[in-house]
Amino acid sequence: MDTITPTSLQQRDKAVNWHPYTQMKSADNIIPIVSGKGLYLYDNEGKKYMDVVSSWWVTLHGHSHPYIAQRLFEQLNTLEQVIFAGFTHEPATQLSENLLKLLPDNQKKVFYSDNGSTAVEVALKMCIQYAHNQGKEKTKILAFKNAYHGDTFGAMSVSGKSYWTKPFESRLFEVVFIDTPTPENLQNLQSQIEAIADEVACFIYEPLVQGAAGMLMYNAEDLNTLMKYCRKQKILMIQDEVFTGFGRTGELFAANYLTEQPDIMCFSKGLTGGTMPMGITTSSKAIYDAFWSDDKHKTLFHGHSFTANPLACTGALASMELLLKKETLMNIKRISQQHSAFVKVLTEHPKVENARQIGTILAFDFKTGQGTSYFNEIGKKLYNEFLQREIIMRPLGNVLYLVPPYCISTEELDTVYHNILEVLDLFKD
Ligand SMILES: *Cc1c(COP(=O)(O)O)cnc(C)c1O
Repeated sequence: MDTITPTSLQQRDKAVNWHPYTQMKSADNIIPIVSGKGLYLYDNEGKKYMDVVSSWWVTLHGHSHPYIAQRLFEQLNTLEQVIFAGFTHEPATQLSENLLKLLPDNQKKVFYSDNGSTAVEVALKMCIQYAHNQGKEKTKILAFKNAYHGDTFGAMSVSGKSYWTKPFESRLFEVVFIDTPTPENLQNLQSQIEAIADEVACFIYEPLVQGAAGMLMYNAEDLNTLMKYCRKQKILMIQDEVFTGFGRTGELFAANYLTEQPDIMCFSKGLTGGTMPMGITTSSKAIYDAFWSDDKHKTLFHGHSFTANPLACTGALASMELLLKKETLMNIKRISQQHSAFVKVLTEHPKVENARQIGTILAFDFKTGQGTSYFNEIGKKLYNEFLQREIIMRPLGNVLYLVPPYCISTEELDTVYHNILEVLDLFKD
């Protein structure tokens, strides 16, 4: 036992915690947060920060929302957990009913898991076994270059190769990566797909926005064309709405921008309003039917200890109730309009490239004449500049973005914009 009693929370943290996506050796400013309320997070010195990245894109209605808290408290005193094999409960069933009503009408079944990565794992297993259950082995999977679908092995396999996945590359399964669609390359993409279509188990994609790659955006129309083509080639489609779901794109789901329907969809992040971890994989009847059999070997042998945890389901029910309120939908619209006006301002700025926006997601590239290693340095510099201004913005390389919770006010958003322009001006030549 250590005889020296650590004093601050920061020191105690350093002694025992290993943080995500963090080089612990150079992690010098980990901030102790003691509470959250609405847009704000409060540190142990009483400083308050605007959380305009929704705590890694999960918070929808602000921190410690009283309605979600109340519902969770009631559920906690009623039923906190039950095995979901052989048992069911009201929160899960109600949530499945409510969610399916909002999705493309071919989505018929809901499979629960714990996070975005597991929602993707389940989706991939459904597609691979879909073929297997029909006596076929399909060895290839299609995905987009620069994709991000999570950090477990299957999810890493279908994510774009980067230094994040480098140490594991030899253990990842075979995936064919294609460019995101543009009017110019669609013909070429179709030829690429046609050549391997028979061997492809599924195509997985982030619809309209590639989040972790740096908020890269592409057109609904082009995705529609690509989806139509995959349908024609009988390639199953997994639409990963882990990030885009629950209003981020200005519509409830990215699916609302599309006329084509995927076979499978993945959800997490905003699903519970950011209060509880949970993942959902939904499927069409055709997928479900491929597992419906007297032959036990055709079962989907997948499950997590906390599958459909009643608390997480209740958090999701409460959050979705708030999301569908007129006031919230108006807020989403208001933020989208305000962003759209600010994009025009950003476009004029000499340090900004590719200012872009869809709904409540706004992003731009910080212009540097330098190579990629400089990008990381500049990311850290910008992050610290904003922290000093009590704004939490976590750049992805040289990409700065806003993904605010829907409770942010017009004035608060204006304050953030104002600070962005001030910080950009610091770097003006
Ligand atoms: C974040 C993310 C995931 C992974 O979710 P986790 O809950 O972090 O495992 C998967 N897909 C997309 C599109 C994401 O943005």
